[in-house]
Formats: sequence, structure tokens, C-alpha cells
Amino acid sequence: GEGERLQKVLAKAGVASRRAAEEMIAQGRVEVDGAIVVEQGLRIDPQTAVVRVDGTRVMVREELVHIVLNKPKGWQSTMSDDLGRPCVGDIVAERIAAGQRLFHVGRLDADTEGLLLLTNDGDLAHRLMHPSYEVSKTYLATVNGEVHKSIGKKLRDGIELEDGPAKVDSFQVLELGEGRSLVKLVLHEGRKHIVRRLLDAVGHPVTRLVRTNIGPVALGDQRPGTLRVLGRGEIGKLY
Ligand code: URA
Repeated sequence: GEGERLQKVLAKAGVASRRAAEEMIAQGRVEVDGAIVVEQGLRIDPQTAVVRVDGTRVMVREELVHIVLNKPKGWQSTMSDDLGRPCVGDIVAERIAAGQRLFHVGRLDADTEGLLLLTNDGDLAHRLMHPSYEVSKTYLATVNGEVHKSIGKKLRDGIELEDGPAKVDSFQVLELGEGRSLVKLVLHEGRKHIVRRLLDAVGHPVTRLVRTNIGPVALGDQRPGTLRVLGRGEIGKLY
């Protein structure tokens, strides 16, 4: 179900232990959005619910948390993994108390490294993932082959993929080496494997992929497996 159990919300807000909060509810002392609640287990949204105990407002809203994580190669983007594979939830759990309530903003393939944004603001997470919001994402890709100048125009004009056309906003060759190249792409797309599929389609399969930016947020020199809590300035730019 949606939301969190009322007794847990009360306990988290420091009103009483969960057990004692249940008693308060049973005694008719707890009010949610203007109505006394006596049954146990009601789920509420702590971000929006107005909760009173004995008529006095209790502040149950949780602080919003925004985290930038450098996902290491081989890790799942999820907060938990049914198959027990390493996932970013393991990294977060050690550092962030509210970790279980965080949403990842989009996914990275297990093989992809780099910037994964996590937040407990579900609305923001959904908005940033929505195609119409069009937040730009920047990737560095190591690819096989020497990338010819004409590739950039192809990718900017658009490529027909099996699930429809896709294009990049910008494309830059950063290094040309012996049979491989380093390229930088910026795109608004969120479809699965989109960068790998685009570069495959132009004959340059990806051997390493790193996401460096989501909109105004940059990974910078943050090492793989580490996280940082976003500052106010950066958060403001996301909304
Ligand atoms: N594109 C991909 O191919 N993989 C990712 O993880 C992200 C974008």
C-alpha cells in the first residue's frame, strides 16, 4: 500500500514508541486531516497529512533528501535486489537513515557507471524521469573503432531504432586511439540501453559507459561507490 502506517509515522516523529502510539490511536487521541482515527494500521503520506495528538499538531514531514551516487560497474541501480546481487541500496543503507524511502531517478545498466540521483521526493523523481520534462543527461563512452566526423551529424539528425527514432543533442569526440575512441554525448532520452543502442547502430559498440551529468547536477571527481548529499543550491536548480 501507499504511505506509511500511522503508528510508525508517530514514532518517527518522536511522539512515542510505536507500541505507545498504537495505544494513543486506540484511545482516540490521534487525528489525521481533521478526523479522529481509532483503527490501527492506517497508511498516511507524511509529506502532506496533518496529524494531531490531543489536538496539538505533530510535525511528521520528513526532510527531503537528494543524493548523488557514483554507481560502480556491476551494481544494480535499485534500492534492493531480489536475487541478492549488489545494489546501490547497500551503499546508501550505511549512510542514510531514510535510505529505504529513496527513489532512483532513472536507471543505469548494471555495466554502466556514474551519476545516479536518489531522492525521497517521489514527485521530483517522477517528474525528472518523464520524457516531457526533458532533463538532459551526459555520458562518456569508450567505443570500438575510430569515430569518423560524420557520426556526430548522424546521431544529431536521429537514428531509427527498433522502438522508434532517437537522437542526441550533442556529440563530441574527445580522444581517438588505436582502434577505440572516447566520445561525449548529451541526450534527453531515457529508454533502456539507449546510448549503447545508438552507438551500436552507427558501428561503434560501447566498451565502457559513464554518466557524468543529469541536468544541472554533475558527478565531478566523486569516486565510484561514494555518495554525497546535494547542497541547497544544486537542489534548487532541479525543481
Ligand atoms: N544508456 C545506456 O545504454 N545505458 C545506461 O545505463 C544509460 C543510458
